Amino acid sequence: MLSEKEKQVLRLVDENKGEIVEYLRRLINFKTVTPPPNGKADGDDYRKLQDLICKTLKGMNFSLDVWEIDASKLKEFPGSGVIPDRDLSNMPVVVGKLKGAGKGKSLILNGHYDVVSPGVIENWSHDPFKGEIEGNRIFGRGAYDMKSGIAAMLEAVKFIQEAGVKLNGDLIVETVPEEELTSMGTLACCEKGYTGDAVIVTEPTNMDVLVAMRGNLTGKITVFGRAGHGDVLPPHWKEGGAVNAITKAVKIIQALEELTEEWRNRPDKQHRFLNSDMVIPTIIRGGEWIIMYPEKVEIEFDSDFIPSTVNLGKEIEEKIMSVAATDPWMKEHPPKLETNPWLYGAEVDENEPIIQTAIEAAKELDIEPKLVGIGSLTDAIHLINYSKIPTISFGASGGGAHEPNEFVNIDGLISATKILALSIMRWCGCS
Ligand SMILES: [Zn+2]
Repeated sequence: MLSEKEKQVLRLVDENKGEIVEYLRRLINFKTVTPPPNGKADGDDYRKLQDLICKTLKGMNFSLDVWEIDASKLKEFPGSGVIPDRDLSNMPVVVGKLKGAGKGKSLILNGHYDVVSPGVIENWSHDPFKGEIEGNRIFGRGAYDMKSGIAAMLEAVKFIQEAGVKLNGDLIVETVPEEELTSMGTLACCEKGYTGDAVIVTEPTNMDVLVAMRGNLTGKITVFGRAGHGDVLPPHWKEGGAVNAITKAVKIIQALEELTEEWRNRPDKQHRFLNSDMVIPTIIRGGEWIIMYPEKVEIEFDSDFIPSTVNLGKEIEEKIMSVAATDPWMKEHPPKLETNPWLYGAEVDENEPIIQTAIEAAKELDIEPKLVGIGSLTDAIHLINYSKIPTISFGASGGGAHEPNEFVNIDGLISATKILALSIMRWCGCS
């Protein structure tokens, strides 16, 4: 049942739909693409977007903490994904804090403002950075993932305040870079000690409640051969003959496929909301000359795994080595596995009260969220694992994340704003 105050907030959201849409369009206008692995943020847009958010938060009486992350000072620990030499300058983090008026539970709202590259512009039928509107949709890179969430959470707070509602518990708003690559933006907030009784990451979830996500590990396997003239039938390798690294690599690729199939049915790789562990080759590079036995093949892979999987790299290595042990050449010249810093998965207990708060709030709008998991991860991993805060993700409906013609549904954006407003008021308590 909605209270009078709650009805008033929802009414204000309805009356100001246009403003919410415009705020999101302004956010989309800033080109805040996650820099590539060896790149750094260019241009003023990252700072300008955060300036706008600071102005919005200041207008709502939040105190502000703005800083740039020095990745080399972040803690490295298993699953942190920290890349110490990544240059994170020019991508400020903003944390705003609104002190509660009484004794209520505290809440963090977290959103990433970085977006993936728009990709091939010709494949878009809308300018990726204009926020063009067509019918019920706003198009643009980040329209869905997840500038929609940032707009919804800020506007929710705004209309709570405009209705004259005072929150009892503290409210913290975090807008961070880097979610799309390393999650170091949110990790930096966690390491600075920002904490609360619950977190809502306003990722777009199509109005479901996201409670579980898989971890991620990428890496490279190098398979070795021995060079020789391509037009010559070589003697046995023990007599100095050439060895084809491509045919050896086939065995390794097959081993990775076998591993994924094995995990598909293994009891310890099952999860209620998530797919089982998997590893897939994503890039292959090999051979040096068309008339030459290839000396080397590099196989890069992507792997995702459920939160209880502790060290997928070790499992991959054991499989590769067991296959190599059955091949006399590879036994003596074993493939080499190199892995990148990995990120752990995370899940939140289904009985955490914040889940019920969000579900009850959605039901007020006749929306029945399901509990869901996703195959990849979000910044919730650090909030759950590092800061130990019950964290859910909840946000608007739309589509095209990481694809051309990304969009958010306008009615989904408005509903998400309302559900967030109700969740904030009910979680923090208010008067
Ligand atoms: Zn996202």
